[in-house]
Amino acid sequence: MTTVTYMGEGAIDVRRSEPKEPGAGEVQVAVAYTGICGTDLHILRGHMDHRSPTIIGHEMSGNVSAVGEGVDGFELGDGVTVMPLAWCGACRACRDGHNHVCHNLEFVGIDSPGALQTTWNVPANIVIPLPAAIPLRDAALVEPVAVAVHDVNRSRLMAGERAVIIGGGPIGALIGVVARDLGAEVLVIEVDRERQANIAALGFSTINPLDVDQVEWVERWSDGDGADVVFEVSGSAPGILVATSLARVRGRVVVVGIQAHAQPLDLPRVFWRELEILGARVYTREDFVQAIQLIAEGTVPVDAIVSRVVPLESTMEAFAALESGKAMKILIDCQASEAV
Ligand SMILES: [Zn+2]
Ligand SMILES: [Zn+2]
Repeated sequence: MTTVTYMGEGAIDVRRSEPKEPGAGEVQVAVAYTGICGTDLHILRGHMDHRSPTIIGHEMSGNVSAVGEGVDGFELGDGVTVMPLAWCGACRACRDGHNHVCHNLEFVGIDSPGALQTTWNVPANIVIPLPAAIPLRDAALVEPVAVAVHDVNRSRLMAGERAVIIGGGPIGALIGVVARDLGAEVLVIEVDRERQANIAALGFSTINPLDVDQVEWVERWSDGDGADVVFEVSGSAPGILVATSLARVRGRVVVVGIQAHAQPLDLPRVFWRELEILGARVYTREDFVQAIQLIAEGTVPVDAIVSRVVPLESTMEAFAALESGKAMKILIDCQASEAV
């Protein structure tokens, strides 16, 4: 088997080893495709070195290749994906049924070995079956789609409402897809020209704050009301500062982008318009199942979102392409090299 391990800032190691049998309670998955994203890029840049280096990757699809002792409900060959979370089950969040924001949450692919390996032993409780009809390439997008589903669910967005998305990367685009499917009107704000063109190609209205006054524009676009929901996906200080100015009275601002530090927030505006500020982090199992459904019914424009598929050995090149900002989503074909 082959694994891709993060070795410290800027370095990964692709190595061969003997696969292990799945332990009790584990499912062994022959990983088909693993997507890489901004989080993996953060790891590679050394921003997460306070967490221990490991096999990275958390967006994947594959087939069951073996089943450990005490595991029921999986057959060899079944198409599956993995919800990459491990929770304690005992803290207040877990007891309240919010185990995705467990006080002791571990993220698989950051805190424990992830999906950039050809043969992966995974606890059965986070292995999620896929309908047979979904191509495994498409299913590699379930995790990022589940992020978008969770963000939209948190916002309580309804058909006929207007949603502004600040940040048009892959997650911003997928929030747009989920919101549009719900019957909302979507406007995406993106500062990077290439990303803006990608968003426009998906059929979304888009503006660039370098070209127009975004507050004025959104006001006109919403007949003077402001947006019902604003998703802050950029993770930038200007993004979170402007988000409140774009929302209507009693509008909802959803904090999706990872803000590395405390940032200024326009609290007078929050007060004046009685805004709601909502955090949205990862996903629940229900979000995961809903994401699988959206992909199965063809709602997610997979061909437009997946820029490239490369073999496991080319993981470093894939990161370089992702870094350049030119690629939307790159998938690693984990089995391509195993056959050689
Ligand atoms: Zn990701
Ligand atoms: Zn917990």
